[in-house]
Order: sequence, then C-alpha cells, then structure tokens
Amino acid sequence: MKCLKCDSKNTRVTCTVHSETNTKRYCRCLDCNQKFQTIERYVKYHRGPKRGGKLPDTQGVKNANAVLTEQNILDIRKLKTEGKSNFAISVIYGINRGHVSRIVNRKVWTHV
Ligand SMILES: [Zn+2]
Repeated sequence: MKCLKCDSKNTRVTCTVHSETNTKRYCRCLDCNQKFQTIERYVKYHRGPKRGGKLPDTQGVKNANAVLTEQNILDIRKLKTEGKSNFAISVIYGINRGHVSRIVNRKVWTHV
C-alpha cells in the first residue's frame, strides 16, 4: 500500500481487524511515519446461471426479452403440423428460422 502523504511504498500493516463485512488494516509509513488505514470490503461473488441448468422464472413470457406468447407457440406448432416451412413461419412472427425449429422440436418453450 502506498503512503498517502509521501507516496512511499515502504509501509507496514501494524494491525488488522476482521469483521463480518470488512477487514480494516492500520498501516504506518516507514519513511514519514504517517498513519493510515485501509478497508477491504467483502463482496459476494455472483455466479452466472448454471450451464445446462434450468433458469428459474426466465422461461417463456416471464423472460423480459420474450417476443412470443404461449399462444404464439401453440400456433407455430400447429402451423408446422399443417405443413408450413420453418422459414414461412419465421417470417410471420418475425423470428429466426432456427428459433422456429427449436420451438417445433421442443428445445425451447418446453413448458407450453
Ligand atoms: Zn509516507
């Protein structure tokens, strides 16, 4: 840790106090005798969603990015059984052709 007064790196920690949320270190500069303290705050590491795991409450219409509704999904699967191509369906709903395939093959919107 650099000294606040003289910028020297010649400092020592004289005392360390741990608490539940942070760690305080009392330091002293060996060059100018300036005392100062540092506080380290514990920050919980946020892990992203598990790969391959189910995402809670982000499926289907609960997902903020969802373009389709559950009724759309039922309609899309119906259109597919009536022989429409994935591309034709994708144009109707303004979605990607691959996404139509995933809907029809129940890789997404599995709960509908
Ligand atoms: Zn100093």
